[in-house]
Amino acid sequence: MSTQSPSAPPVLVLFRDDFRLTDNPALHMACTTGQPVVCVYVQDPATRREGAIGWWLDQSRRALAEALTAQGGELLTVEGNTPDIIPELVTLFKADTVLWNRRYDPVGKEQDTALKTTLGLRQITTHSLSGRLLHEPWAVQTGSGQPYKVFTAWWRAARELGAPGRCVPAPSSLTFAAWPAAVKALATKAAAIPAPTLPEGAADAAMDWPCTEADAQDFLKDFVDDNVARYSTERDRPDKDTTSRLSPYLRAGLISARQVWHSVEAAIEKNGAISENAWTFLSELGWRDFAYMQLFYQPTLPTENLRSEFNDMPWHDDAALLKAWQHGQTGYPLVDAGMRQLYQTGWMHNRVRMVVASFLTKHLLTDWRKGEAWFHQRLVDADPAQNAMNWQWCAGTGIDASPWFRIFNPIGQSEKFDPSGAYIRTWVPELRHLPDKLIHTPWKADAALCRQIGLHLGTTYPHPIVELKAARTIALESYKNLPARQ
Ligand code: FAD
Repeated sequence: MSTQSPSAPPVLVLFRDDFRLTDNPALHMACTTGQPVVCVYVQDPATRREGAIGWWLDQSRRALAEALTAQGGELLTVEGNTPDIIPELVTLFKADTVLWNRRYDPVGKEQDTALKTTLGLRQITTHSLSGRLLHEPWAVQTGSGQPYKVFTAWWRAARELGAPGRCVPAPSSLTFAAWPAAVKALATKAAAIPAPTLPEGAADAAMDWPCTEADAQDFLKDFVDDNVARYSTERDRPDKDTTSRLSPYLRAGLISARQVWHSVEAAIEKNGAISENAWTFLSELGWRDFAYMQLFYQPTLPTENLRSEFNDMPWHDDAALLKAWQHGQTGYPLVDAGMRQLYQTGWMHNRVRMVVASFLTKHLLTDWRKGEAWFHQRLVDADPAQNAMNWQWCAGTGIDASPWFRIFNPIGQSEKFDPSGAYIRTWVPELRHLPDKLIHTPWKADAALCRQIGLHLGTTYPHPIVELKAARTIALESYKNLPARQ
């Protein structure tokens, strides 16, 4: 591919959480124009992410930049407010078209609407395309044209739409527009901004999450070849490595949900026997769309209870308990294992996410927003829609949520889903010498055994920070006494 400055006006393609060349509708459309292309990423303070996700998105941006370099071009990274800096770039490049894949979060929507208006007034062509979801949020509606409130009904209607649109290929050839001097100056200024780093203690994330489009495809292939056939039966087992681990890649758009869907569908066509497992997996991609549909129609999803009766919940505000939960020091092995996996690797198994969220909101009676914020800081897949919807689901404050009285018992969950304690032993090494029957309840180990294996409860591993039965009673009472329920 060559970098040249042909006479046709360039097309700007904006990259935002869609750091890929394949199945990228905006990039694909740019190539069909035959005009030279400028690939742009804006470091925008309004959408900048902190924590592990900030690091992960930056890694993904770098991977895209390298992929474009391999095509003979460059990713133009500039700093600024998107609705201001893009019109400025249009002027500098004398571009006539700006293309992007759609965003659904409140800030993204607002920025893109403003951009469309500003550019429209200047007769610049804009197109926002569908690249993130299986189906657009408004594509699946009730008979009366309302957004669905129940997942099963939404999923049934979504399936009636059939498979999502076909994937578009990576461009076979790209012609890049040359950068004027003023643009080079903007790029130099942005390059001087310090890169986001991993939060303290999360060094494992750099090893666990290789970051290119090809890596995402490898994760997908491994999952389809080895694990999709066992997905329904084993996906709840944190001690087994059965789920796809695609969430960070989907989050950064290193792979599209459509690509995942079509690969799995092709596997079903080849081997019908996996069908039930594969459809369970595809329904999880459905939950992702369902979360985005909620965020689209309820922009306050990450900050406000969707069920307002919870506005009066007497949440406890105990900084010490919150810290113990955050750092995996609750004395409940499965909770601690999950929180330490999150801290060190930026990821946690879904079943354990549910257990730790139930424990925080119900046994510790802590506002779900504190848990959501901590997850947002530590997860490499931290997503405004999926994180918020799931926290509201676990806390019972969301639509189609788990009812408040469904309080996971962390011991029962541990015995059921990590029966031999293999997951606990990985993340809570101070318990690793306990026999299987005590790994879920270390406080039951007698003094002689503790001495023998070097376990000092209260010193090397904490005593339980709450008594489950008493905490459960308080949680149920608090809910029963909500003014809206009187
Ligand atoms: P798989 O089981 O292989 O599923 C495939 C894909 O489906 C996932 O990558 C994900 O994109 C989607 N998916 C799976 N489960 C869910 C779900 N419950 N809700 C929405 N989408 C789902 N997922 C995130 O991507 N980002 C988050 O910030 C996030 N926060 C969560 C917070 C809590 C409290 C809980 C209970 C769940 C959260 N999830 C979040 C959902 C889920 O835990 C992860 O998507 C999943 O663990 C990722 O692992 P995987 O890719 O191996 O999943």
